[in-house]
Amino acid sequence: MSQRTDARRSLDPDTLLSVRDLSTRFFTQEGQVNAVESVSFDVRDNEILGIVGESGSGKSVTALSLIDLVESPGRVTDGEIWYYHPDLADEFRGEDGAQVEGDHVDLRTVPAQVRRALRGPSFGTIFQDPMSSFNPSITVGEQLAEAVEVQRRASANPRSTRSRTQGYGFARFLVDAVVPGRGYVSDSSMDRAIELLEQVGIPDPAARAEEYPSQFSGGMLQRAMIAQALAGEPDLLIADEPTTALDVTIQAQILDLLRDVQADRGMSVVLITHDLGVIARMSDRIDVMYAGEVVERGDLEAIFENPVHPYTRGLLGSIPDLQEPQPRLEPIAGNVPSLFDAEMGDGCYFADRCPNAMRSCLEKPPERPVDGTRAHRAKCVLVDRQYDPTEGLSKGANDSDDSTDSNAQAEKNASNARTEAAE
Ligand code: SF4
Repeated sequence: MSQRTDARRSLDPDTLLSVRDLSTRFFTQEGQVNAVESVSFDVRDNEILGIVGESGSGKSVTALSLIDLVESPGRVTDGEIWYYHPDLADEFRGEDGAQVEGDHVDLRTVPAQVRRALRGPSFGTIFQDPMSSFNPSITVGEQLAEAVEVQRRASANPRSTRSRTQGYGFARFLVDAVVPGRGYVSDSSMDRAIELLEQVGIPDPAARAEEYPSQFSGGMLQRAMIAQALAGEPDLLIADEPTTALDVTIQAQILDLLRDVQADRGMSVVLITHDLGVIARMSDRIDVMYAGEVVERGDLEAIFENPVHPYTRGLLGSIPDLQEPQPRLEPIAGNVPSLFDAEMGDGCYFADRCPNAMRSCLEKPPERPVDGTRAHRAKCVLVDRQYDPTEGLSKGANDSDDSTDSNAQAEKNASNARTEAAE
């Protein structure tokens, strides 16, 4: 583990989760892949943090790293995940190896079974494809009731997080398997499952609870998945591309539902998407990821009104303008870079695609505040200097007209996205 940061000094009870210098790597036969590289961010109480970037930018692996779901040959190799949980902090305070500061505990320093036990009661998840997340041979109601039951057993002894892993062991499983009429799911957990289906807008929930996933439409199944994530009454909901597989009308309904449940329950949400329209509609704050790093962060207004990093500007410029269709979209030229360790350079990872790349970009810029504000930050030399064509590295960099067009398009699209969000 890296030398521990002093981030915990600034932790306060409003910070539900504070991620510091998180790195996740995949150790493949072809070489080491740096999927997430020293990523830091905070999630505050009762807010929606949007994480946006292209496929391969590391946003989903970041989410999986938070909940210990990175599979071999991947591994979280570095970093700290400070979680506000007074009971857990009390339980591990003073224990060998565990790091506790106030009411926060670094989840990377507690046993893996404790982290696993937090899935559901502390961290709910919604994934892109609900069909592959439900078991096709069990009714939707039973699957939701199982999630309710897990939460009930975990809550039986709220002061002992370890007991969550022991609430339903192999012995109980055997008893349930051999005693007729005994099952994991009780009548009351099934009642709660029906209630949850009702809360997420499923009509005739009692009848629907007896149906199988294949009998649900995509939108209904996504609602059921939200219900399942809410069964544990989590502090944090991680929604990874929750609407990508849905058509636009259903997408809008699901986003409205997500916003409503977040507001009703005062939950925090980490919303992961490649879609800036979704981000504009939903997020309080935004982290923009590229090649495994957060390259720009700020609140909604800062990112949409005053984007600094050319990648953020490129994302804004590539949103289709439905009100005034352009002959061509303004895509970001090139492809995401290789994340193989041996092929990653020392400079800015966006330099190959950046219309403003300069010689000074061959050294990786640190993250710095934009306009002296702590909340808006970017990893780019343009934070405190203008583009200088005499130092330009690429043809695109010297083509000031293209750059101006792209920036103008970005501003226009940002304005449209904001208008759509307001509607
Ligand atoms: Fe472009 Fe340089 Fe900023 Fe990287 S640091 S995004 S290459 S201007």
